[in-house]
Amino acid sequence: MKETSDLLFERASRYIPGGVNSPVRAGKAVGINPPFIARADGAFLWDADENEYIDYVCSWGPMILGHSHPEVVQALEESIRLGTSYGAPTEREVEMAETIIEMVPSIEMVRMVNSGTEATMSAIRLARGYTGREKIIKFDGCYHGHADSLLVTAGSGVATLGIPGSPGVPKDLASQTISLPFNHLESLDQAFQRFGPEIAAVIVEPIPGNMGVIVPQQQFLDGLSRITGEHGSLLIFDEVISGFRVAPGGAQELFGIMPDLTCLGKIIGGGLPVGAYGGKKDIMSKMAPQGDIYQAGTLSGNPLAMAAGLATLRVLRKGGVYKELEERGNSLFSDLEGAARAAGIPSVINRVGSMGTIFFTADPVTDFETAKASDQDLFKGYYRRMLEQGIYLAPSPFEASFVSTAHSQDIIQKTIACAEKAFRDL
Ligand SMILES: *Cc1c(COP(=O)(O)O)cnc(C)c1O
Repeated sequence: MKETSDLLFERASRYIPGGVNSPVRAGKAVGINPPFIARADGAFLWDADENEYIDYVCSWGPMILGHSHPEVVQALEESIRLGTSYGAPTEREVEMAETIIEMVPSIEMVRMVNSGTEATMSAIRLARGYTGREKIIKFDGCYHGHADSLLVTAGSGVATLGIPGSPGVPKDLASQTISLPFNHLESLDQAFQRFGPEIAAVIVEPIPGNMGVIVPQQQFLDGLSRITGEHGSLLIFDEVISGFRVAPGGAQELFGIMPDLTCLGKIIGGGLPVGAYGGKKDIMSKMAPQGDIYQAGTLSGNPLAMAAGLATLRVLRKGGVYKELEERGNSLFSDLEGAARAAGIPSVINRVGSMGTIFFTADPVTDFETAKASDQDLFKGYYRRMLEQGIYLAPSPFEASFVSTAHSQDIIQKTIACAEKAFRDL
């Protein structure tokens, strides 16, 4: 039963472009109208028609503790009674900055913003201002939010809808962005040989999640660090997904890389709108009002967002959480692979910790080209059969699935049983 959702979608479509406030939410690529969600708890969502779903979208990453985690809810309840925004500094922002700096290896100074897009946009401005250079390098299929400079050959909804860039991005700006294949050090070397002195920064999702999950080669990440260092360019890790997801210190901890700047979002907001960017002190101190590179925000460091984020980080820092997430992620994805194999469906699983993607292809998926070569019709069939059984996945073959601490082994095994049925029927 989807009556109420369908009616809501009809109403939404009249007044909101495409009926959604972010394109990835529309079911366009899989040929459905999206369920409208009414409430959530733990690993579960309920839609406006009271259908129950096991949630593997987890709000696209933030809900690493599951929905309505008691400690997060309590922090929000306590905070809301003290007012919702002051536009003035608070103790909680200091605690947030100290916590981030303790957890993320390369960050010595940090600025809070309101979304991942703001974080990457500001980090790019800082890199340009700091180096006095204008060009940036990104990688095909990586998504860094919707700022003008970063929409070139982007992942996420841009990839799902097959849009190569976006009308409205000035050509002059797009021409300052060079997009290269991920995991290919040679093309990076060539780009630096040609444009080296003009390149302000290389921005990368160290573990891409927006073309589906791609596992980075250690030597690729090492190479990024070395080559940017040699040319006086900054290395920006966009850890909006991987930050606090794959380890307390994100991908940079896991792969032992110290980027110059790091962008954060999603998990640090605990489900509220938050982003942050930080890095080496001599670079970050160029930001106003200490330096002269400008960036500001009316609601930045919002007390409610800080409360939810700090509560989430507090839980994540308790012992054993990442080990548990690794075990759950491993169960889900290795059993999924087994189920696909048993049904004779060619599949590749890419997983790091509690984030992963099943690609329907027989060949390794290491970059955007190979991700796009996967069978998108097969994905569509799989997606619809899973949704019918109450499994809520991202409606695109180019997205990650996320496991939270609320996804018990029982819930995971129930999901696998649904996948077995879906694969049999495909
Ligand atoms: C989600 C995401 C962003 C953008 O964050 P918003 O909060 O949606 O603006 C940027 N980079 C990466 C890697 C992301 O996954």
